[in-house]
Amino acid sequence: MTDKKQLLCALPKIDECLAGLDDRTKSIPARLVKLAVRHCIDSERQRILADDKNCVLLNREQWDERLLAAITSKNQMNLRQVINGTGVVIHTNLGRSILSAPMVDALQQAGAYYTNLEFDLNTGTRGSRYGLVEEIICDLTGAEAALVVNNNAAAVLLVLDTLACGKQVIVSRGQLVEIGGSFRIPDVIAKSGAQLIEVGTTNRTHLADYEKEINNETALLLKVHTSNFRVIGFTSEVSAEDLVALAHAKSLPVVEDLGSGSLVDLSSFGLPPEPTVQQIVKTGIDVVTFSGDKLLGGPQAGLIVGRKEIINRIKRNPLNRALRIDKFTLASLEVVLRNYYDLNQALTTVPTLRMLTQPVELIKKRAKRLIRRIQTTGKPACSLYLRPTMSRVGGGAMPEHGLSSWAVAFKPLHIHISAMEKGLRKLPIPVIGRVEDEFFLLDMRTVADKEIPGLATSLLTFLEQGAFS
Ligand SMILES: *Cc1c(COP(=O)(O)O)cnc(C)c1O
Repeated sequence: MTDKKQLLCALPKIDECLAGLDDRTKSIPARLVKLAVRHCIDSERQRILADDKNCVLLNREQWDERLLAAITSKNQMNLRQVINGTGVVIHTNLGRSILSAPMVDALQQAGAYYTNLEFDLNTGTRGSRYGLVEEIICDLTGAEAALVVNNNAAAVLLVLDTLACGKQVIVSRGQLVEIGGSFRIPDVIAKSGAQLIEVGTTNRTHLADYEKEINNETALLLKVHTSNFRVIGFTSEVSAEDLVALAHAKSLPVVEDLGSGSLVDLSSFGLPPEPTVQQIVKTGIDVVTFSGDKLLGGPQAGLIVGRKEIINRIKRNPLNRALRIDKFTLASLEVVLRNYYDLNQALTTVPTLRMLTQPVELIKKRAKRLIRRIQTTGKPACSLYLRPTMSRVGGGAMPEHGLSSWAVAFKPLHIHISAMEKGLRKLPIPVIGRVEDEFFLLDMRTVADKEIPGLATSLLTFLEQGAFS
């Protein structure tokens, strides 16, 4: 056995490594190469010092190979395209909604050219960035006014800060939820400077519970979509209409954090019935907030719609400046919103809606296509099956709701299923799927047709190598 001292002495010198790699790293910034090399040697030294049994003497070629891999990896973009084979359509960890080609064109244009972002082309004077989409949002939702900020969490914070700072906000105990990614309703209320007044119980809250707590310090009644949490059984919630009637009788506004906020009723596609934003606005709720990248299917954004007088106050809040939306988001958001002038068109042009509503037969066809492509172009060391599965909506409302789907199921012959799952995450375009009953599954609902040829090739390369490992 090689001892520690010997291993440490054998560690190469940085300058020698750099000289040896010179011709193979010419196109990469020298500083990046040096950082990668130093990091690689340093971490090997740490492993030796920690008595890692995997540390062995490496020759020149082995070191070069290791260093080149480290350099290539450091020179790669950290944010990368991945294949979403999870079947979770609105997958927060994978970037939520993907954009259509016209949405991408719009944000590309906004980046490459000067725009009238805050310039009124009619008067030649300063304009408002919010004016670019406000009328469209009002057309679509029936609201009097609208404002867009960085995301829905920002929207909720801004609304509460504007309307309730130093005052009280009444919320049902059944709606004091944590949404994930550390968005907790009680914390957001506290951060806005408002005082939370909890009413009712976890499973049942009645109108009288709200009524009892209303006093001179009350700023508003808040309704929260419980999104990824559901109380079932003996439950009772106050309807929007009743809440509005009570609040308005006391000259108070009702605010609803809707979370997902869909503009189309998706219940005819097997999704649970959820009121649309238009329907919520119609109930008389004064301010509604929702995300741009959940069921709306656009970029990350927080939409605030409601009564003009309140929206104007929100616009004037200095905090609004800190939470403002950027031009790329506005550009792609305008495109996705325009898609909704024709609801049927939206179902096919907005990728998120298309994936949620596509006929299951189409998904099955796509799964068969992937299998055929893999089997006819190579010899994978793997059994392949077509398998029925359940996709999930993801993010916001109805996240756990299942949708019938089809998956390609892989059973590798020579490697463990977990090695396959891990290996696919390391591909140049990582493939993310899930392991179920000793199969690796790729749910084809969230894989696009255009991704199939490349996916087949990279799976095949991986699986052919797998035959020998
Ligand atoms: C998702 C969600 C949020 C947070 O929205 P982001 O756009 O992620 O900031 C807030 N409230 C509810 C009810 C949600 O579903």
